[in-house]
Amino acid sequence: MKAAQALAALEEMLEAARQQVHALRERVARLEAENKALRAQLGLGEDLVAKENLAQIYADGFHICPGQYGRRRNIHEDCLFCQGLLRKAE
Ligand SMILES: [Zn+2]
Repeated sequence: MKAAQALAALEEMLEAARQQVHALRERVARLEAENKALRAQLGLGEDLVAKENLAQIYADGFHICPGQYGRRRNIHEDCLFCQGLLRKAE
């Protein structure tokens, strides 16, 4: 009996979590569409957005160069390969 109750409670929790994930997915989709529309209004093309994203990733302390993409970099030293990419993207 106890196991059955625990299982029922677990199922309820899972269902609640499933609904939350579903709501979050919808919210993300709405926000992405809104973000895209706002960027279009501002005249920011996809290219510029991609360049901004790369620059931000680099600024956050990660490599964007093909050899080490996504790896943490030493924030106190610039990576010449990353820098070259950023310059080329300008
Ligand atoms: Zn790099």
